[in-house]
Amino acid sequence: MDEPSTFPYRLRQEFLSPAEAAFFRVLHEMVKEHLYICPKVPLQELFFVTRPNENVHYFNKIYRKSVDFLLLRRDTLKPVLAIELDYPKQAEHRPRDNFLESLFIQARLPLVHVLAQPSYDMQELARLFARAMKQTKVENQPMRAANDYSPICPRCGITMVLRFYKEGPRKGQQYYGCLNFPQCQETVQVGH
Ligand SMILES: [Zn+2]
Repeated sequence: MDEPSTFPYRLRQEFLSPAEAAFFRVLHEMVKEHLYICPKVPLQELFFVTRPNENVHYFNKIYRKSVDFLLLRRDTLKPVLAIELDYPKQAEHRPRDNFLESLFIQARLPLVHVLAQPSYDMQELARLFARAMKQTKVENQPMRAANDYSPICPRCGITMVLRFYKEGPRKGQQYYGCLNFPQCQETVQVGH
């Protein structure tokens, strides 16, 4: 089939809504020295599904959903905090999405909800972020291997496999790696 000479795509007039743009500017003022802000991050870019063939239902739950803002560390570019901007009407009438809450808690990534407002108190926001990050750290106790055989991946909850370091200072030594590598890069040292 011939492609039409012009595609039926047009650039959206607004990438961020006015409320999102206003909050983005405040957020940028707060974190510009330390963190990068990614708006509108699809959940499927942030999470992967363990054993995807068995867990299609769980893939569908995150498919085409996104989180409003994701903050990344400037040095490692790893996510440190996610933010959902809630609108007053929506917050009143709709119960909070428990699935989303559980998803972030289990993935040990702090998620905070900020009510969209005409103006923001940066100190209050900073306190909210700090509290969420502290809470996640408390819950983030590393799981220990249950026995001497194969440990369970702390991220995916599936059995890890014995591998050899192919390069670097530990070349030739064994370690346990996750079956979901490279999406999951958890490792456990042998004998732990
Ligand atoms: Zn894993």
